[in-house]
Amino acid sequence: MPALESVGWGFWAHRQINRVAVFTLPEEMFPFFRHHVEYLTKHATDPDSRRSSDPEEAPRHYIDLDYYGTYPFDSLPRGWQDAANRFTEDTLKAYGIVPWHVQRMYYRLVEAYKVKDKERILKLCADIGHYVADAHVPLHATLNYNGQLTNQHGIHSLLESRLPELFHGNYDFVVGPAPLFAQPLKRIWEVVLQSAAAVDTVLSAEWKVRANMPESEWHVYEERNGRRSKMYSEAYAAAYHQQLNGLVERRMRQSILAVGSFWYSAWVDAGQPELSALIDTPISTADSLLLEQETKKYRSGLLLGRPEAD
Ligand SMILES: [Zn+2]
Repeated sequence: MPALESVGWGFWAHRQINRVAVFTLPEEMFPFFRHHVEYLTKHATDPDSRRSSDPEEAPRHYIDLDYYGTYPFDSLPRGWQDAANRFTEDTLKAYGIVPWHVQRMYYRLVEAYKVKDKERILKLCADIGHYVADAHVPLHATLNYNGQLTNQHGIHSLLESRLPELFHGNYDFVVGPAPLFAQPLKRIWEVVLQSAAAVDTVLSAEWKVRANMPESEWHVYEERNGRRSKMYSEAYAAAYHQQLNGLVERRMRQSILAVGSFWYSAWVDAGQPELSALIDTPISTADSLLLEQETKKYRSGLLLGRPEAD
């Protein structure tokens, strides 16, 4: 995947995922995260901003699993060292390293929790939220990441930016409590394998739309900053969204829960350090009101039961 071709979930979706993940956390963590919800929201897109300045950054956002064969890609060892021994580090980097990067960030976060380094905890949580969310996007798990191999150029941003921006009004983001997991690498592999398994659905759904809509209705032209640009029409986007049968909402919901799980499990791994001492400044009244509403919305019923570790 070329460095600037794709940015993962759109900015809106990344921010929403990090934000709502805060409300999935257990009571012991919630006050600290709630206090810093604006930081975690705003910085959800930092890793994408780094792509233009850091050549190492791009491969951290995806893994082109079909380079390694067909599902479930058994030829590719799940651990970094074994995978590098078989395919070389250069190859792994060329086709994307998101599962291993998430694992590395997870252990950095465990260390940051242990020493109660507030800035580092927040920065790592914002970053992990981004990478974990990207791993949920089916087109982040394939060589055909922008439909370029099947004449579907443009499908990448249509799926992960345009659709959630247009249709999120009907999405339900009340996801319940984030579950604890024992093995971060195993957990993130489940995520990328689910993404890879959805690639065919995502591509074939667009062909179904095309079969039912005359080509003249696929695109509209927009004047932006004196330039005429071609984009998919809203009717096309709506038909595609319909054809996907809830996939975008489902992957966003799963992203929110998984991001909460990574923040939560790392904290447990670090020995459940007391975080409330790290809250230093009061939140403004306006923020408090909004937070009050969000807390009510997303955490109602949350205390009824938290799933056991897998
Ligand atoms: Zn990204």
